[in-house]
Amino acid sequence: MARSSPLERVRIDLAIRGGQVVTRGGTVRAEVGVQDGRIAAIGEVPRAEEELDATGKLVLPGCVDLHTHLASTPTFTPLDDFEHGTRAAIAGGVTTVCSMVYQDGTLRAGIERGLRDAQRSLADFAFHVVVTDPNDAAIGELPSLARDGHTSLKVFMVAPRFDERITDYVRLLRGAAGAGMLVAVHAEDHAVVARSTAALHAAGREEVRYFPESRPPEAEDVALRSASQLAAKTGAAMYFVHLSSRLAIAALGEAKARGLRVYGETRPLYLYLTRARFERPDAALWVGQPPLREQDDVDAMWQALRDGLIDTVGTDHYPHTRAAKLAPGLAFDRVPPGVANLETLLPMLYSEGVRRGRLTLERMVDVLATAPARIAGLRGKGEIAVGNDADVVIFDPERTRTIRASEMHSACDYDPFDGWEVTGWPTLTLLRGQTAYAEGEIRALPVQGRLVLRRSM
Ligand SMILES: [Zn+2]
Repeated sequence: MARSSPLERVRIDLAIRGGQVVTRGGTVRAEVGVQDGRIAAIGEVPRAEEELDATGKLVLPGCVDLHTHLASTPTFTPLDDFEHGTRAAIAGGVTTVCSMVYQDGTLRAGIERGLRDAQRSLADFAFHVVVTDPNDAAIGELPSLARDGHTSLKVFMVAPRFDERITDYVRLLRGAAGAGMLVAVHAEDHAVVARSTAALHAAGREEVRYFPESRPPEAEDVALRSASQLAAKTGAAMYFVHLSSRLAIAALGEAKARGLRVYGETRPLYLYLTRARFERPDAALWVGQPPLREQDDVDAMWQALRDGLIDTVGTDHYPHTRAAKLAPGLAFDRVPPGVANLETLLPMLYSEGVRRGRLTLERMVDVLATAPARIAGLRGKGEIAVGNDADVVIFDPERTRTIRASEMHSACDYDPFDGWEVTGWPTLTLLRGQTAYAEGEIRALPVQGRLVLRRSM
């Protein structure tokens, strides 16, 4: 007589066996069962139609990247659009991407443009609406956007008119708080950046080696402190993107200690590289905003990532060709900012973080998947748990590979980490139970990604 258990009454489409399942709470040897695109069982799983052997592998939740630029704007189509960007994403174990979309008159029009672009997405997606004109009509749109599952905005404190329009931004932030929306914040102070940039130009210092002086850590410090005041005053929840410096980390820590609803993101550039890169003839290849910092800042970032002060690592994926970056005669402030990062996000954090003992495996899963999903209200994402979407990465912790742009799926012709030897790489990525990537091959079709409707905070 067969023993009957609740599990045996569940039809399982796909079983993953033999792997170590990693959640933020721990790592256990367990089988994972998938039914209708969701995780239906963890532990012992009955025989399934499709069986995946994960012996010797880690079973990780698909990563959730809250910071990409894959959607077009009214004036610009990125080199990595949704199709190219999400090919890189799923090959690197990232199954959900949030892209910036820009206000185009209305905020809604920005989302509609994003939805059109994302019809070619291979990964699941959501948007942050960049508010460039916080007028009454835009503020009036917030409740309906939130009701429709679009629950985040982005503001640029580095925008030239941010201070001048501060009363409008305060009203926007109040509106966002009222609608339960998260506000992503680019926290560099415009006045500090403008003054420092003008001084360098006046002194004839145009080369990329001067770029860090044009956007000093003080610009982050000033902006974070004023953003914290705004968060306290308006009740807005803020997600500080791409924090780069020790000063920024300290300001974030103070805001958190005050009990404000604030979160911090860093990006790979600030974990692996220093401003020494800017002394090279091809310095422009590593230009992003903010700039690369000192070794001290890098060390502080790892510490903050371990401690939990920094909540997430997002890519800010926004590559430009080598020719665009290295165009002759470009002053430091004219280099198009941004690099490719989606495909290397997870392998590099594993190789440089977990293998080197700087981060636990569980903390890596938290910062790359669980925390971003929770912060952005991405339901069913970011964790291997019963009921969640079966976004799963089978990760080979022993596979060593050298990063070469020619083997990456981005449309970009260089990679910021070209030549790095990395140990640990995804072998298979499932998106809602479907094989999206396996053994070097993209299997998903560029229609398979879905909009993730989010809950208000
Ligand atoms: Zn960005």
